[in-house]
Amino acid sequence: MRGRGNMASSSNSPCAACKFLRRKCQPECVFAPYFPPDQPQKFANVHKVFGASNVTKLLNELHPSQREDAVNSLAYEADMRLRDPVYGCVGVISLLQHQLRQLQMDLSCAKSELSKYQNLGITGHAGLFAAAAAAATATTHNHNHTTTILRTLGSI
Ligand SMILES: [Zn+2]
Repeated sequence: MRGRGNMASSSNSPCAACKFLRRKCQPECVFAPYFPPDQPQKFANVHKVFGASNVTKLLNELHPSQREDAVNSLAYEADMRLRDPVYGCVGVISLLQHQLRQLQMDLSCAKSELSKYQNLGITGHAGLFAAAAAAATATTHNHNHTTTILRTLGSI
């Protein structure tokens, strides 16, 4: 837009935060490393939910090595809060905890199923086949739950 090369214009553009707040982006800007100009929505969401001054205060209190994780966490929480104004990311946590409890129940069922065959003592092909089938069923069932959790994580 300014008729410069891509490299020059990106290094001279204000960060997404300063652009949003319509202020000059100083070289020591606390937002600049984490809110690049090509991701304007990231700062807009964080600002809407937490407020720019609160985020500034929070980042200044943290060691620079922890700031990127903090910003990513704030961006995720803000995004989830805007999508789900009631539960925010607690909605996702509850869903995952529910699925985890379900998986733990499935796992203990599969283990008790397997122990039945172990207690019987596997003799001959029939016993071996039944034990293998039980193990396969348990694995497939758990695999489906794992896939659901991964899909849930992927969609958020
Ligand atoms: Zn800036």
